[in-house]
Amino acid sequence: MLGADKPGTRIRPAVFGRRTREEATMRLDCAIVTGSTSGIGLGIAQRLAASGYGIVLNGFGEAREIGKLCQDLADEHGVAVIHSPADMRDAAEIEGMIELALHEFSRIAVLVNNAGVQFTAPVHAFPVGQWDSIMAINLTAAFHTIRTVLPPMLAAGSGRIVNIASIHGLVASREKAAYVAAKHGLVGLTKVVALETAGRGITCNAICPGWVLTPLVEKQIADRAVQAGTSIDAAKQALLAEKQPSGEFVTAEQIGDLVVFLSSPAADQLTGQALAVDGGWTAQ
Ligand code: NAD
Repeated sequence: MLGADKPGTRIRPAVFGRRTREEATMRLDCAIVTGSTSGIGLGIAQRLAASGYGIVLNGFGEAREIGKLCQDLADEHGVAVIHSPADMRDAAEIEGMIELALHEFSRIAVLVNNAGVQFTAPVHAFPVGQWDSIMAINLTAAFHTIRTVLPPMLAAGSGRIVNIASIHGLVASREKAAYVAAKHGLVGLTKVVALETAGRGITCNAICPGWVLTPLVEKQIADRAVQAGTSIDAAKQALLAEKQPSGEFVTAEQIGDLVVFLSSPAADQLTGQALAVDGGWTAQ
């Protein structure tokens, strides 16, 4: 289905955080965070909202829960928040999300490509549909958001693009062929965009987190607990012990604070980098 036929792309969504007619015409800088109804994306949206950006939340979930997330963000930080339900597998819906952001806010200051999914299987048994889906959401979606957002950013002479890759954008693990390939691709895309935008007020960087305790990882922990016949807590400890020397999970808020830093003037000359936030994983 084309994006224009889906609710939230053609139909104007609710704008949370603008209560009066005057406020409704107020326009300001926004940050788009894909896949931000959960986990790391939500943590990033919260930290960007706390820094004063209007927020375009994106991702799946129950309409009521998403409405509450938007309202809470708007109330807590005094910024305007909208939700785009654009499916990151669909180029037309992605274009619709960028159009919506440009319509509701004066400028897209920050784009965070965060939406991502995981599936594990040995490469010879990897389901083709899962490969296609992981490539579409974890890599191709970032190409579509970036190619759509760059013309207005170039015209404005400013913009920040942050791609949430993974430590699997730098090193591999078994049974994650599609994820590792997509995340390495995302790091490569980051470097090309950084070169093409250098000196034009735009930066593009990748963040490469180690383990962060989100629904995406909780599923892997639950699978490991079943396989090893252990408790969830024991499976968590085993997961960390295997790769992450700090023995602690990275938090979504820590990733959010790094996005805020990358969006600040202090990071004007920081571009084309893949920044590992991994408790020492890649130091080994
Ligand atoms: P999560 O499962 O908690 O959240 C994923 C988000 O993406 C949700 O909001 C979901 O609705 C959204 N989403 C999924 N498919 C979508 C689609 N087709 N279109 C639009 N939105 C879609 O996952 P998370 O752990 O917060 O992961 C976020 C990102 O961080 C991913 O790119 C992931 O690869 C990356 N990452 C996670 C970890 C970790 O340990 N959790 C580590 C490194 C990198």
